[in-house]
Amino acid sequence: MTARELRDRMRADLRSGAVFDTAHRQAAAYLDSAFDRNVSPSNHALAALASFDEPLPKGPGDAEAIIDRLATHGSPATNAQIGGRFFGLVNGGALPVAQAAGWLAGAWDQNVVLHAVSPLGAKLEEVCERWLRELLGLPEDTSAGFVTGSSMAIFCGLAAARWRLLSSLGWDVNARGLAGAAALRIVTGRETHSAVLKAIGLLGFGTDCIEYVEVDHQGRLIAEAMPALDARTIVILQAGNVNSGAFDPIDAVCREADAKGAWVHVDGAFGLWAAASNKLRHLTDGMASAHSFSLDAHKTLNVTYDCGIVLCRDQEAITAAMQASGAYLPRTGERDGMAMTPEMSRRARGIELWAALAYLGRDGVDMLVTELHERAVQAGREFASAGFDVLNDIVFNQVVLGFDDDAEVQRIIQEVRASGECWIGASRWQGRPVIRFSVCSWATTPDDISRAVRAIALARQQAFESAR
Ligand SMILES: *Cc1c(COP(=O)(O)O)cnc(C)c1O
Repeated sequence: MTARELRDRMRADLRSGAVFDTAHRQAAAYLDSAFDRNVSPSNHALAALASFDEPLPKGPGDAEAIIDRLATHGSPATNAQIGGRFFGLVNGGALPVAQAAGWLAGAWDQNVVLHAVSPLGAKLEEVCERWLRELLGLPEDTSAGFVTGSSMAIFCGLAAARWRLLSSLGWDVNARGLAGAAALRIVTGRETHSAVLKAIGLLGFGTDCIEYVEVDHQGRLIAEAMPALDARTIVILQAGNVNSGAFDPIDAVCREADAKGAWVHVDGAFGLWAAASNKLRHLTDGMASAHSFSLDAHKTLNVTYDCGIVLCRDQEAITAAMQASGAYLPRTGERDGMAMTPEMSRRARGIELWAALAYLGRDGVDMLVTELHERAVQAGREFASAGFDVLNDIVFNQVVLGFDDDAEVQRIIQEVRASGECWIGASRWQGRPVIRFSVCSWATTPDDISRAVRAIALARQQAFESAR
């Protein structure tokens, strides 16, 4: 086949549309079944993944057959994350409107590097930035960068902090690096997320320099245990402990940091959305005076992957930290996506985010977030009546179940996965083996919660019997 024949074949694929019809038909069947089928893939489906272990094809194939094969062997081997009974990590489901917008975004294949390259992508990012400020109650000077997830958003916030604090000391970190620079201090709670540690490593601070602050029995940083702050300090707070969902005392710490000129970053990957709920907003009180924030639209907001957001109240710092420059890049004063993120070329994440926010509106976001909390409270109640040891105060969407040994937790998790009834994960928290149960999908009904609690109770009994 010649290059020209290949091009003609692809044009023909576009014209006939059969490959897209196949993808659409397969996806629609999947979406419909994902709520009722087993949550974990069956062993049979996992074994069938071996069909992908084949040599790289010699030449071009048939697009429709490839999509069909992908769906046939791929769909059954997914975890049904978009249904109502996936309680692992803090995954978040997917709003139908965001999924549909994602299909359109795929067709457009926009690159939001510069306004001139994707005026649509730039406009939607700009609108999302404004809507997010309003939803979360953040000041007018807050700007947003759209990245893969909170790991990268944390990295961006801390990079902005590093640039600003060193710049105030007369040191250009972009040009001179960290060797020879004044040492910055990093203060964070003992239960800070591993993504924070990763960012601290990537930024060259090194995790050894962290001044850890003691936490209470819920994993909240104890404000009274903070060391003295100064203008060389970056404080990293948590809005939503990844196990318990607990919030650090944001208000008290922000006040102290403000008085001393320290930079505060709030890691609110899933928890920052509490600010959009009338009932839960108090958890984030005082956060508007922090300097940078990281959160995920792909978690609590149920936007499709991947959609992380860095919010920063110091636009000069974040733009300088991202070192946005290059003579061939015509900067226009319009919104250029690359100025706010580490990437140059990047997909237009604002498309799905815009669709989600346009669909839900302020009240819809409030209902979504508040309902996740209500369902978690229900789960806590039902777990307790089934004799489980619920370790955390359910302030947001997380429920933590305590056990006596790791092997027991592993047996329960295996039984639950084999049952296909729901998906849960193991962790260790405050010295104990735990199961984390995270309510984070719009699709989760009260029945889903009761069904999951029953399945986990049964698995515990089976694990107990098999261990005897
Ligand atoms: C999920 C999470 C992260 C990491 O976010 P990614 O989107 O997975 O990169 C960081 N912090 C907290 C508190 C989280 O829950």
